[in-house]
Amino acid sequence: MSATNAKGTALITGASMGIGAIYADRLARRGYDLILVARNEARLNELAARLKGETGRSVKTLQADLNEKADLAKVEQVLHEDQAITMLVNNAGIGAVTPLLATDLAKVDELIALNVTSLTRLTYAAAPAFVTRGRGTIINIASIVAISPETLNGVYGATKAYVLALTHSLQHELAGKGLRIQAVLPAATATDFWDKTGHSYQNLPDGTVMSAEDMVDAALVGLDQGELVTLPSLPDGDEWTRFEAARRTMSEHFFHSAPARRYTTAGRVPSTSPSSFSSAAASTRSGVVNPSVNVS
Ligand code: NAP
Repeated sequence: MSATNAKGTALITGASMGIGAIYADRLARRGYDLILVARNEARLNELAARLKGETGRSVKTLQADLNEKADLAKVEQVLHEDQAITMLVNNAGIGAVTPLLATDLAKVDELIALNVTSLTRLTYAAAPAFVTRGRGTIINIASIVAISPETLNGVYGATKAYVLALTHSLQHELAGKGLRIQAVLPAATATDFWDKTGHSYQNLPDGTVMSAEDMVDAALVGLDQGELVTLPSLPDGDEWTRFEAARRTMSEHFFHSAPARRYTTAGRVPSTSPSSFSSAAASTRSGVVNPSVNVS
């Protein structure tokens, strides 16, 4: 980190192209030093040289295949040890558009390993260090398929639902410890992501695809506005607010000792009288998990 850098260093995964490369550009211009992670070293070096020249920031590259244990461990170690790191952008990800049963299981494994396992491990590497220092930002690139799993491949959607759920949980447990957390849910974005699925974004209907530059710029505005979840392409933000409010309200209604009346069979009296665990819900909301409630 250069001596004058108050922002610290952002480590960005999947920074060799697409959305990650735009994050690199924008964060360097915002004053962050960078550590760029991906497999394609030549692309990383080219981007690093350009950004160093244009912004004067320190830009390092870390060649790693996040689906290889040894490489992943290398990145985890950097997150553990480099005290200058103040931001993790969990961006590396792959997708699929095939129906569930037409999807090769090897592809399913690869999707889960990169989109879920590596993201989780890197989060676990960064978060404790950020907590110790009382500051740090984690940006998780999810997707609108997190809440619309019928749109593309179901496993891809499920991996992004995981990212969204993890983000909510990180916020719940770590926001009070000085961490900034954000999930970004892009819709179709003009990158090579689509070509890798065998379907170019150029074949998507007119007016449905956003440039990666616009998507990242909007996501950073969302970050500046303190959003936990940013949907760059959703025109009416109140739709998300209502959706999230409904989820949170329903979360207060889950804990009862008897099944809901609609599931009681005729003539059968529930073994315990209905009573609610509203105190459990309240304590969960306040950040203290009630030890008497095992919801696993
Ligand atoms: P992209 O252009 O294909 O870029 C993906 C990046 O991830 C590349 O830098 C790639 O670099 C890296 N990567 C892939 N596999 C990797 C591995 N095993 N280890 C390390 N790095 C790896 O796709 P993108 O659109 O920018 O996607 C970025 C994120 O946005 C993904 O999480 C994706 O799910 C999400 N997203 C994209 C869209 C969209 O429409 N494009 C929409 C919603 C969400 P190397 O090949 O050099 O490793």
